[in-house]
Amino acid sequence: MNTYYADKKGYYGAYGGAFIPEMLYPNVEELKKNYISIMQEVSFQKEFQQLLKDYVGRPSPLFYAQRLSEKYQAKIYLKREDLNHTGAHKINNTIGQILLAKRLGKSRIIAETGAGQHGVATATVCALMGMECVVFMGEVDIARQAPNVARMKMLGAEVIPATSGSKTLKDATNEAIRDWINNPEDTFYIIGSVVGPHPYPDMVARFQSVISQEIRFQLKEHENTSKPDYIIACVGGGSNAAGAFFHYLDNKEVKLIAVEAAGKGIDSGESAATSQLGKDGIIHGSRTLLMQTDDGQITEPYSISAGLDYPGVGPQHAHLFKSGRARFLSATDDEAMQAGLELCQLEGIIPAIESAHALAALEKMTFKKEDIVVVNLSGRGDKDLNTYINYFNF
Ligand SMILES: *Cc1c(COP(=O)(O)O)cnc(C)c1O
Repeated sequence: MNTYYADKKGYYGAYGGAFIPEMLYPNVEELKKNYISIMQEVSFQKEFQQLLKDYVGRPSPLFYAQRLSEKYQAKIYLKREDLNHTGAHKINNTIGQILLAKRLGKSRIIAETGAGQHGVATATVCALMGMECVVFMGEVDIARQAPNVARMKMLGAEVIPATSGSKTLKDATNEAIRDWINNPEDTFYIIGSVVGPHPYPDMVARFQSVISQEIRFQLKEHENTSKPDYIIACVGGGSNAAGAFFHYLDNKEVKLIAVEAAGKGIDSGESAATSQLGKDGIIHGSRTLLMQTDDGQITEPYSISAGLDYPGVGPQHAHLFKSGRARFLSATDDEAMQAGLELCQLEGIIPAIESAHALAALEKMTFKKEDIVVVNLSGRGDKDLNTYINYFNF
Protein backbone atom coordinates (compact mmCIF):
# COMPACT_ATOMS: atom_id res chain seq x y z
CA MET A 1 0.00 0.00 0.00
CA ASN A 2 1.29 3.43 -0.90
CA THR A 3 0.07 6.68 0.52
CA TYR A 4 0.48 9.15 -2.32
CA TYR A 5 -2.75 8.32 -4.14
CA ALA A 6 -6.24 9.12 -2.87
CA ASP A 7 -7.80 6.67 -0.41
CA LYS A 8 -11.47 5.63 -0.71
CA LYS A 9 -12.67 8.84 0.92
CA GLY A 10 -10.40 11.00 -1.17
CA TYR A 11 -7.76 11.67 1.46
CA TYR A 12 -4.07 12.11 0.84
CA GLY A 13 -2.74 11.91 4.40
CA ALA A 14 -4.45 14.76 6.25
CA TYR A 15 -5.64 16.49 3.08
CA GLY A 16 -8.54 16.07 0.68
CA GLY A 17 -12.03 14.81 1.47
CA ALA A 18 -15.32 16.29 0.31
CA PHE A 19 -16.60 19.27 2.29
CA ILE A 20 -19.73 20.19 0.39
CA PRO A 21 -23.14 21.69 1.02
CA GLU A 22 -25.86 19.10 1.71
CA MET A 23 -27.56 20.00 -1.59
CA LEU A 24 -24.54 18.89 -3.63
CA TYR A 25 -24.28 15.53 -1.97
CA PRO A 26 -26.27 13.57 -4.62
CA ASN A 27 -24.21 14.97 -7.53
CA VAL A 28 -20.85 14.32 -5.89
CA GLU A 29 -21.97 10.89 -4.66
CA GLU A 30 -23.10 9.91 -8.19
CA LEU A 31 -19.71 10.88 -9.56
CA LYS A 32 -17.81 9.20 -6.75
CA LYS A 33 -19.69 5.92 -7.21
CA ASN A 34 -19.16 5.81 -10.96
CA TYR A 35 -15.99 7.55 -12.07
CA ILE A 36 -13.52 4.69 -11.75
CA SER A 37 -15.76 2.03 -13.26
CA ILE A 38 -16.71 4.28 -16.21
CA MET A 39 -13.07 5.25 -16.81
CA GLN A 40 -12.13 1.57 -16.90
CA GLU A 41 -14.78 0.62 -19.48
CA VAL A 42 -13.23 -0.54 -22.74
CA SER A 43 -15.52 1.71 -24.81
CA PHE A 44 -14.64 4.74 -22.66
CA GLN A 45 -10.92 4.12 -22.97
CA LYS A 46 -11.25 3.60 -26.69
CA GLU A 47 -13.04 6.91 -27.24
CA PHE A 48 -10.73 8.80 -24.83
CA GLN A 49 -7.54 7.44 -26.40
CA GLN A 50 -8.80 8.08 -29.92
CA LEU A 51 -9.58 11.73 -29.13
CA LEU A 52 -6.24 12.21 -27.37
CA LYS A 53 -4.55 10.93 -30.50
CA ASP A 54 -6.55 12.50 -33.34
CA TYR A 55 -7.95 15.64 -31.71
CA VAL A 56 -5.30 16.65 -29.16
CA GLY A 57 -2.36 15.27 -31.16
CA ARG A 58 -0.93 12.90 -28.56
CA PRO A 59 1.52 11.53 -27.68
CA SER A 60 3.12 14.92 -27.17
CA PRO A 61 6.84 14.68 -28.00
CA LEU A 62 9.55 14.26 -25.37
CA PHE A 63 12.22 16.55 -26.76
CA TYR A 64 15.91 16.39 -25.84
CA ALA A 65 16.89 20.03 -25.37
CA GLN A 66 20.55 20.00 -26.32
CA ARG A 67 21.52 23.62 -25.77
CA LEU A 68 19.61 23.84 -22.51
CA SER A 69 21.37 20.62 -21.45
CA GLU A 70 24.76 22.14 -22.20
CA LYS A 71 23.95 25.21 -20.17
CA TYR A 72 22.75 23.35 -17.07
CA GLN A 73 25.12 20.35 -17.40
CA ALA A 74 22.47 17.62 -17.30
CA LYS A 75 20.36 15.72 -19.83
CA ILE A 76 17.27 17.89 -20.07
CA TYR A 77 14.11 16.73 -21.80
CA LEU A 78 10.99 18.81 -22.40
CA LYS A 79 7.57 17.13 -22.32
CA ARG A 80 5.81 19.14 -25.01
CA GLU A 81 2.27 19.69 -23.66
CA ASP A 82 2.53 23.07 -25.40
CA LEU A 83 1.96 21.27 -28.71
CA ASN A 84 -1.49 19.99 -27.72
CA HIS A 85 -4.59 21.36 -29.43
CA THR A 86 -5.57 24.58 -27.56
CA GLY A 87 -1.97 24.97 -26.41
CA ALA A 88 -1.72 23.31 -23.01
CA HIS A 89 -2.35 20.22 -20.91
CA LYS A 90 -5.85 21.33 -19.82
CA ILE A 91 -7.55 19.67 -22.79
CA ASN A 92 -6.54 16.17 -21.54
CA ASN A 93 -8.78 16.70 -18.54
CA THR A 94 -11.74 18.41 -20.24
CA ILE A 95 -11.99 15.62 -22.82
CA GLY A 96 -11.98 13.03 -20.05
CA GLN A 97 -14.63 14.82 -18.01
CA ILE A 98 -16.99 15.50 -20.89
CA LEU A 99 -16.92 11.83 -21.91
CA LEU A 100 -17.76 10.98 -18.30
CA ALA A 101 -20.59 13.55 -18.31
CA LYS A 102 -22.05 11.99 -21.46
CA ARG A 103 -22.01 8.54 -19.89
CA LEU A 104 -23.78 9.90 -16.81
CA GLY A 105 -26.51 11.19 -19.12
CA LYS A 106 -25.78 14.90 -18.61
CA SER A 107 -26.57 17.42 -21.35
CA ARG A 108 -25.31 20.70 -19.88
CA ILE A 109 -21.75 21.59 -18.85
CA ILE A 110 -20.70 24.30 -16.41
CA ALA A 111 -17.19 25.43 -15.53
CA GLU A 112 -15.37 28.15 -13.64
CA THR A 113 -12.39 29.95 -15.05
CA GLY A 114 -9.86 32.51 -13.85
CA ALA A 115 -7.52 33.39 -16.69
CA GLY A 116 -9.89 31.77 -19.15
CA GLN A 117 -7.67 28.85 -20.14
CA HIS A 118 -9.86 26.21 -18.52
CA GLY A 119 -12.95 27.99 -19.87
CA VAL A 120 -11.54 27.74 -23.39
CA ALA A 121 -10.60 24.06 -22.96
CA THR A 122 -14.13 23.36 -21.70
CA ALA A 123 -15.87 25.39 -24.44
CA THR A 124 -13.74 23.50 -26.98
CA VAL A 125 -14.87 20.03 -25.91
CA CYS A 126 -18.49 21.20 -25.55
CA ALA A 127 -18.42 22.34 -29.19
CA LEU A 128 -16.85 19.02 -30.15
CA MET A 129 -19.61 17.08 -28.36
CA GLY A 130 -22.47 19.45 -29.17
CA MET A 131 -23.22 20.16 -25.51
CA GLU A 132 -24.49 23.35 -23.88
CA CYS A 133 -21.67 25.21 -22.12
CA VAL A 134 -21.88 27.86 -19.40
CA VAL A 135 -18.66 29.35 -18.03
CA PHE A 136 -18.56 31.47 -14.87
CA MET A 137 -15.84 34.08 -14.78
CA GLY A 138 -15.13 36.99 -12.43
CA GLU A 139 -16.01 40.41 -13.85
CA VAL A 140 -12.45 41.62 -13.24
CA ASP A 141 -11.02 38.59 -15.06
CA ILE A 142 -13.42 39.12 -17.99
CA ALA A 143 -12.00 42.60 -18.41
CA ARG A 144 -8.34 41.53 -18.25
CA GLN A 145 -8.64 38.32 -20.31
CA ALA A 146 -10.62 39.59 -23.30
CA PRO A 147 -9.08 37.26 -25.94
CA ASN A 148 -10.08 34.16 -23.99
CA VAL A 149 -13.59 35.53 -23.46
CA ALA A 150 -13.83 35.99 -27.24
CA ARG A 151 -12.56 32.44 -27.82
CA MET A 152 -15.17 30.97 -25.50
CA LYS A 153 -17.94 32.92 -27.23
CA MET A 154 -16.72 31.86 -30.68
CA LEU A 155 -16.83 28.26 -29.47
CA GLY A 156 -20.47 28.74 -28.51
CA ALA A 157 -20.19 29.08 -24.74
CA GLU A 158 -22.16 31.48 -22.60
CA VAL A 159 -19.86 33.46 -20.29
CA ILE A 160 -21.56 34.61 -17.09
CA PRO A 161 -19.81 37.32 -15.04
CA ALA A 162 -19.37 36.77 -11.30
CA THR A 163 -20.01 40.14 -9.69
CA SER A 164 -19.60 39.36 -5.99
CA GLY A 165 -16.53 39.63 -3.74
CA SER A 166 -13.27 40.35 -5.51
CA LYS A 167 -14.90 39.38 -8.86
CA THR A 168 -12.16 36.84 -9.59
CA LEU A 169 -11.73 33.05 -9.64
CA LYS A 170 -13.05 32.17 -6.19
CA ASP A 171 -16.23 34.15 -6.86
CA ALA A 172 -16.68 32.43 -10.22
CA THR A 173 -16.30 29.09 -8.42
CA ASN A 174 -19.01 30.06 -5.92
CA GLU A 175 -21.36 30.91 -8.81
CA ALA A 176 -20.63 27.60 -10.54
CA ILE A 177 -21.37 25.65 -7.35
CA ARG A 178 -24.62 27.59 -6.89
CA ASP A 179 -25.66 26.74 -10.46
CA TRP A 180 -24.82 23.08 -9.92
CA ILE A 181 -26.97 22.95 -6.77
CA ASN A 182 -29.88 24.39 -8.76
CA ASN A 183 -29.47 22.05 -11.74
CA PRO A 184 -28.52 18.68 -10.28
CA GLU A 185 -30.27 16.54 -12.89
CA ASP A 186 -28.88 17.63 -16.25
CA THR A 187 -25.66 19.48 -15.37
CA PHE A 188 -22.06 18.30 -15.02
CA TYR A 189 -19.45 20.56 -13.43
CA ILE A 190 -16.05 20.29 -15.17
CA ILE A 191 -13.35 21.43 -12.70
CA GLY A 192 -10.06 22.53 -14.25
CA SER A 193 -7.38 21.34 -11.84
CA VAL A 194 -6.68 18.75 -9.13
CA VAL A 195 -8.84 20.71 -6.70
CA GLY A 196 -12.43 20.52 -5.44
CA PRO A 197 -14.19 17.82 -3.43
CA HIS A 198 -13.32 14.14 -3.84
CA PRO A 199 -13.41 12.60 -6.44
CA TYR A 200 -12.28 15.58 -8.53
CA PRO A 201 -8.60 15.73 -7.51
CA ASP A 202 -8.15 12.00 -8.15
CA MET A 203 -10.23 12.03 -11.34
CA VAL A 204 -8.35 14.96 -12.85
CA ALA A 205 -4.98 13.43 -11.89
CA ARG A 206 -5.97 10.20 -13.62
CA PHE A 207 -6.93 12.03 -16.81
CA GLN A 208 -3.67 14.00 -16.74
CA SER A 209 -1.63 10.87 -15.93
CA VAL A 210 -1.34 10.27 -19.68
CA ILE A 211 1.63 12.67 -19.36
CA SER A 212 3.74 10.41 -17.11
CA GLN A 213 2.52 7.31 -18.93
CA GLU A 214 4.01 8.73 -22.13
CA ILE A 215 7.20 9.94 -20.42
CA ARG A 216 7.86 6.35 -19.33
CA PHE A 217 7.88 4.83 -22.80
CA GLN A 218 9.41 7.87 -24.51
CA LEU A 219 12.31 7.98 -22.08
CA LYS A 220 12.82 4.26 -22.61
CA GLU A 221 13.33 4.97 -26.33
CA HIS A 222 15.75 7.85 -25.67
CA GLU A 223 17.69 6.62 -22.66
CA ASN A 224 16.79 2.95 -22.23
CA THR A 225 15.29 3.66 -18.83
CA SER A 226 11.72 4.65 -18.03
CA LYS A 227 12.75 6.65 -14.97
CA PRO A 228 14.25 10.13 -14.99
CA ASP A 229 16.25 11.41 -12.03
CA TYR A 230 14.10 14.53 -11.78
CA ILE A 231 10.69 15.68 -12.96
CA ILE A 232 10.05 19.41 -12.73
CA ALA A 233 6.59 20.98 -13.13
CA CYS A 234 4.92 24.24 -12.20
CA VAL A 235 2.01 24.23 -9.75
CA GLY A 236 -1.04 26.44 -9.81
CA GLY A 237 -3.80 24.09 -8.67
CA GLY A 238 -1.42 21.32 -9.61
CA SER A 239 -2.90 19.33 -12.51
CA ASN A 240 0.02 19.35 -14.95
CA ALA A 241 2.36 18.43 -12.09
CA ALA A 242 0.01 15.70 -10.85
CA GLY A 243 -0.09 14.22 -14.36
CA ALA A 244 3.68 14.39 -14.81
CA PHE A 245 4.30 12.82 -11.36
CA PHE A 246 1.50 10.22 -11.41
CA HIS A 247 3.25 7.02 -12.45
CA TYR A 248 6.40 7.89 -10.50
CA LEU A 249 4.89 8.59 -7.09
CA ASP A 250 6.05 5.22 -5.73
CA ASN A 251 9.50 5.35 -7.38
CA LYS A 252 11.37 7.25 -4.68
CA GLU A 253 14.50 7.41 -6.83
CA VAL A 254 12.61 9.76 -9.17
CA LYS A 255 12.84 13.15 -7.49
CA LEU A 256 9.73 15.30 -7.92
CA ILE A 257 10.14 19.07 -8.07
CA ALA A 258 7.09 21.34 -7.84
CA VAL A 259 7.58 25.01 -8.69
CA GLU A 260 5.21 27.64 -7.35
CA ALA A 261 4.92 31.29 -8.32
CA ALA A 262 6.66 33.55 -5.82
CA GLY A 263 5.30 36.63 -7.62
CA LYS A 264 7.23 39.69 -6.46
CA GLY A 265 8.88 37.60 -3.72
CA ILE A 266 7.58 35.23 -1.05
CA ASP A 267 7.51 37.90 1.65
CA SER A 268 6.36 40.74 -0.60
CA GLY A 269 2.65 40.31 0.06
CA GLU A 270 2.26 39.68 -3.68
CA SER A 271 2.84 35.97 -4.14
CA ALA A 272 1.15 32.67 -4.90
CA ALA A 273 3.64 30.32 -3.19
CA THR A 274 1.02 28.37 -1.24
CA SER A 275 3.32 25.71 0.24
CA GLN A 276 5.41 28.46 1.84
CA LEU A 277 2.61 30.86 2.82
CA GLY A 278 -0.44 28.64 3.24
CA LYS A 279 -2.01 27.09 6.31
CA ASP A 280 -4.45 24.20 6.60
CA GLY A 281 -7.94 25.19 5.55
CA ILE A 282 -10.86 24.28 3.32
CA ILE A 283 -11.27 25.68 -0.17
CA HIS A 284 -13.53 24.48 -3.00
CA GLY A 285 -14.63 21.48 -0.96
CA SER A 286 -11.34 19.99 0.10
CA ARG A 287 -8.95 20.32 3.01
CA THR A 288 -5.61 21.58 1.82
CA LEU A 289 -2.98 24.28 2.19
CA LEU A 290 -4.47 27.67 1.61
CA MET A 291 -3.28 31.27 1.71
CA GLN A 292 -5.44 32.97 4.31
CA THR A 293 -5.56 35.69 6.90
CA ASP A 294 -5.39 34.89 10.63
CA ASP A 295 -9.17 34.77 10.79
CA GLY A 296 -9.41 32.41 7.82
CA GLN A 297 -10.29 34.76 4.96
CA ILE A 298 -8.76 33.74 1.64
CA THR A 299 -5.87 36.02 0.64
CA GLU A 300 -5.78 37.23 -2.99
CA PRO A 301 -2.80 35.56 -4.64
CA TYR A 302 -0.55 37.30 -7.14
CA SER A 303 1.62 36.09 -10.00
CA ILE A 304 2.55 37.57 -13.36
CA SER A 305 1.25 34.27 -14.71
CA ALA A 306 -2.54 34.09 -14.66
CA GLY A 307 -2.59 30.28 -14.47
CA LEU A 308 -0.54 30.15 -11.25
CA ASP A 309 -2.52 32.86 -9.55
CA TYR A 310 -4.46 30.54 -7.20
CA PRO A 311 -4.68 30.77 -3.38
CA GLY A 312 -4.47 27.02 -2.72
CA VAL A 313 -2.93 23.82 -4.08
CA GLY A 314 -4.63 20.50 -4.69
CA PRO A 315 -4.75 18.21 -1.63
CA GLN A 316 -2.34 15.70 -3.16
CA HIS A 317 0.27 18.44 -3.49
CA ALA A 318 -0.28 19.53 0.11
CA HIS A 319 0.48 15.93 1.08
CA LEU A 320 3.49 15.63 -1.26
CA PHE A 321 4.84 18.80 0.34
CA LYS A 322 4.19 17.82 3.97
CA SER A 323 5.50 14.27 3.50
CA GLY A 324 8.61 15.51 1.72
CA ARG A 325 7.93 13.27 -1.32
CA ALA A 326 8.11 16.33 -3.58
CA ARG A 327 10.46 19.25 -3.13
CA PHE A 328 8.73 22.61 -3.50
CA LEU A 329 10.65 25.49 -5.02
CA SER A 330 9.39 28.87 -6.15
CA ALA A 331 10.28 31.30 -8.91
CA THR A 332 9.62 35.03 -8.92
CA ASP A 333 8.05 36.89 -11.85
CA ASP A 334 11.49 38.10 -12.90
CA GLU A 335 13.10 34.66 -12.70
CA ALA A 336 10.28 33.10 -14.73
CA MET A 337 10.36 35.80 -17.41
CA GLN A 338 14.12 35.38 -17.83
CA ALA A 339 13.79 31.59 -17.99
CA GLY A 340 11.02 31.93 -20.58
CA LEU A 341 13.16 34.16 -22.77
CA GLU A 342 16.10 31.81 -22.34
CA LEU A 343 14.06 28.90 -23.72
CA CYS A 344 13.07 31.03 -26.73
CA GLN A 345 16.68 31.79 -27.50
CA LEU A 346 18.27 28.42 -26.71
CA GLU A 347 15.64 26.09 -28.17
CA GLY A 348 13.28 28.16 -30.35
CA ILE A 349 10.29 27.47 -28.13
CA ILE A 350 8.15 30.25 -26.61
CA PRO A 351 6.74 28.80 -23.38
CA ALA A 352 3.67 29.80 -21.40
CA ILE A 353 4.73 31.94 -18.45
CA GLU A 354 3.38 29.21 -16.15
CA SER A 355 5.79 26.70 -17.72
CA ALA A 356 8.60 29.27 -17.55
CA HIS A 357 8.36 28.97 -13.74
CA ALA A 358 9.28 25.27 -14.03
CA LEU A 359 12.22 26.20 -16.27
CA ALA A 360 13.38 28.79 -13.72
CA ALA A 361 14.01 25.95 -11.26
CA LEU A 362 16.96 24.69 -13.37
CA GLU A 363 19.00 27.66 -12.18
CA LYS A 364 18.29 26.80 -8.53
CA MET A 365 19.36 23.16 -8.69
CA THR A 366 22.66 21.32 -9.04
CA PHE A 367 22.86 18.30 -11.31
CA LYS A 368 25.31 15.57 -12.13
CA LYS A 369 26.17 15.49 -15.81
CA GLU A 370 24.45 12.13 -16.36
CA ASP A 371 21.23 13.16 -14.57
CA ILE A 372 18.10 12.83 -16.67
CA VAL A 373 15.77 15.77 -16.04
CA VAL A 374 12.26 16.06 -17.50
CA VAL A 375 10.66 19.51 -17.45
CA ASN A 376 6.93 19.47 -18.11
CA LEU A 377 6.31 22.25 -20.61
CA SER A 378 2.65 22.71 -19.69
CA GLY A 379 1.72 25.25 -22.36
CA ARG A 380 2.75 27.54 -25.17
CA GLY A 381 3.39 31.25 -24.84
CA ASP A 382 1.16 32.69 -27.58
CA LYS A 383 -1.46 33.67 -25.00
CA ASP A 384 1.24 35.51 -23.03
CA LEU A 385 2.70 37.56 -25.82
CA ASN A 386 1.39 40.86 -24.44
CA THR A 387 2.90 40.13 -21.04
CA TYR A 388 6.26 39.29 -22.66
CA ILE A 389 6.07 42.48 -24.80
CA ASN A 390 5.30 44.71 -21.82
CA TYR A 391 7.92 43.09 -19.61
CA PHE A 392 10.83 43.15 -22.08
CA ASN A 393 9.72 46.21 -24.06
CA PHE A 394 9.93 44.37 -27.40
C1 LIG B 1 -3.67 26.46 -16.15
C2 LIG B 1 -2.24 26.29 -16.46
C3 LIG B 1 -1.30 25.91 -15.47
C4 LIG B 1 -1.65 25.76 -14.02
O1 LIG B 1 -2.58 24.77 -13.72
P1 LIG B 1 -2.18 23.40 -13.04
O2 LIG B 1 -3.48 22.79 -12.67
O3 LIG B 1 -1.32 23.71 -11.85
O4 LIG B 1 -1.44 22.60 -14.03
C5 LIG B 1 0.01 25.69 -15.86
N1 LIG B 1 0.40 25.87 -17.14
C6 LIG B 1 -0.45 26.24 -18.10
C7 LIG B 1 0.06 26.43 -19.49
C8 LIG B 1 -1.80 26.46 -17.80
O5 LIG B 1 -2.65 26.84 -18.77
